[in-house]
Amino acid sequence: MNAGKLRVCVVGAGVSGLAALKEVLEEGHSAVCLERESAPGGVFTTGVAYDPMRLTVSQYFMAYSSFPPPLEEERRHWFRQEYAAYLERFRQRFGLDPHIRLNCAVEAVSHEADGSFVVEYTQAGKTVRDRFDAVAICRGAFRAEAPRMPDLPGAETFQGEITHTARYKGAEPFRGKRVVCIGMGETSADVTNQISEVASVCYLALRNYPLQSARLAYGGRATNDGYTSRLLAWAPRQQMQEYYGKRVEADLMSGDPHRQLISDWFIKAGFTGKSLQKNDDFVTNLLNGKIRHVPHGIARLEGNTVHFTNGEHVEADVVLCCTGYEESSIPAEWLGGCEIKDVRRLFKHAFHPDFGPRLALIGWTRPFNGGVPACSEMISRYFALLCAGKRELPARPDLEKRIEEDRARGGGLLADPARPHARRLHRISRRRRRARRLRAEADGLPGRSTPPLQAGLRQRHRGHLSSPRPGRRSGDGARGDPPAAGGP
Ligand SMILES: Cc1cc2nc3c(=O)[nH]c(=O)nc-3n(C[C@H](O)[C@H](O)[C@H](O)COP(=O)(O)OP(=O)(O)OC[C@H]3O[C@@H](n4cnc5c(N)ncnc54)[C@H](O)[C@@H]3O)c2cc1C
Repeated sequence: MNAGKLRVCVVGAGVSGLAALKEVLEEGHSAVCLERESAPGGVFTTGVAYDPMRLTVSQYFMAYSSFPPPLEEERRHWFRQEYAAYLERFRQRFGLDPHIRLNCAVEAVSHEADGSFVVEYTQAGKTVRDRFDAVAICRGAFRAEAPRMPDLPGAETFQGEITHTARYKGAEPFRGKRVVCIGMGETSADVTNQISEVASVCYLALRNYPLQSARLAYGGRATNDGYTSRLLAWAPRQQMQEYYGKRVEADLMSGDPHRQLISDWFIKAGFTGKSLQKNDDFVTNLLNGKIRHVPHGIARLEGNTVHFTNGEHVEADVVLCCTGYEESSIPAEWLGGCEIKDVRRLFKHAFHPDFGPRLALIGWTRPFNGGVPACSEMISRYFALLCAGKRELPARPDLEKRIEEDRARGGGLLADPARPHARRLHRISRRRRRARRLRAEADGLPGRSTPPLQAGLRQRHRGHLSSPRPGRRSGDGARGDPPAAGGP
C-alpha cells in the first residue's frame, strides 16, 4: 500500500466518528465527516437520548486519551448534558467543526475498481456523489431506527399500548398507568426506574438475568473503572472467575441488600454475558417494591391481560419493550451488497478482509466493561496509520487466522488459558496460595487451599440468599415483596 495523504470520508459524527475525524486529520489526511442529523454527538445529543441519562462508566473512562476531563474533577458518572458538552469541547480543541457536514445522510458507499470509494449522500434534498480514497463507517453499532421487538403472541388482541424504549422521551405519559417492562439493559434500567416513580404499578419481566454490576464498586467506595483492566482481559478464565467471584462473594456477605441483589443476579446470569450491565439505579425501587420483578417471559397477551410463562397474569395498560436494537453494521445495499452480520468476522471488529486497510468500521470494537470512546480512538489511530502507509494489515491468510483466533478466545469472562501471560498468572496465583498456606501453618492455623470458586460461591449463595420473589400480581397498586436479603 502506498504511503500518502489521503482524502477520507467519515460517516457519522458520534463518539466514534469524532475520534476518527480527529485521528485522520492529525495524521495529515484531508477529511469530510458526513452526519445525517442536525448536530454532532450521536446517541448523546440526538435520537435515542432521554433525560436524565447518566454514563455507566466514569468520565475518565469516557474521555478520549487525547483530551482528559478536568483533572481536578473527582471521578464520577457524568450526565448526558455534561458528556455532550465534553464532546463539544473536544471538537473545538481539535478544530473538527469545519470538517463536519450536518444534515448529510449517506445512502450508499461503493468500492470502485481503482480502489477508491464513492459515497452517495443526500443534502438539502439533493443527491451528491463524492469520491474518497478511504472511508471510516462510524454510523453506530445499534440502529436506532430498528428497535428489536420481541414476539408477543396475541399482540393484536391487546387493548393497551405496546411500545419500545426507542420512543421513550420521559416517564410522564406513563403516569397512573399499569406498565409491564420487558428486558433489562442499561437503557431499560433507567427507563423502568423512571416509570416506576409515576406508574400505578410497574412490573419488570425478565426471562434471563443480565450480568449485573454496579456503577460504584467495592461497596460504593469507588467507580467501577477497576473492572476495566487489561489484567482481567488477559487472565485465564479460572482467575477471572476467582476475581469476580471474590467481589461477588464480598457483596453477598456485606449485609447490604443492594449489593446482595446485584450479586444474586450476577450469579443467576451464570458468569457469562457479552458485557456487564452497569446501570444499577433501578435496584432501590426493586427493593422497595416500586418495581415488581417477574422472573418469567411473556407467554401471551389477551385484552388487557399479560400472561407470563409460569401461568400467572397481570392487568396492564402498557407493555414497554426494553429489548434493544437490531445490531447494525452496514446497510445491505452498501459495498455491493456485502452485509456484515457478525462484526467478529472482521479484523479487530473493524476491518473486512475483502476491503483491506482503507475501509474501517469504527464503533463496533466494544469493551466487556468500560467506555467505547477509547476503543474507537485506538481503532481510529490504527486506521489513520494504515491510510498513511505507516502500518500494514496482516497478509490475508494470517488476517483470517487472527480473526478466528480472536473469535475463539470469546469475550467476557472467557480468555485463552494457553497464552504465556496466562500461564504466568497461574504460576503467580499458585505461589500466592502456597505462601498463604505456609503463613497459616506458621500461625498454627490449618492451611487453606482455594476451593473451586464457583462451587464455593454457589454453596454460600444458597445459604444466604433466596431468589427474588415476584410481587403480588393483582394490579391493585400494592407493592410486591422485595427480594429477601439475608445477611450473615
Ligand atoms: C442510555 C445509554 C447510556 C450509555 N452509556 C454509555 C457509557 O456510559 N459508556 C459508553 O461507552 N457507552 C455508553 N452508551 C453506548 C453509546 O451509545 C456508545 O458508546 C456511543 O454512542 C458510540 O458512539 P458511535 O459514534 O459509535 O455511535 P452513535 O452515537 O450511534 O453515532 C453514530 C452517528 O452516525 C450517524 N449516522 C448514522 N447513519 C448515518 C448515515 N447513513 N449518514 C450519516 N450519518 C449517519 C448518526 O446520526 C449518529 O450521529 C450508552 C448508550 C445509551 C443508549
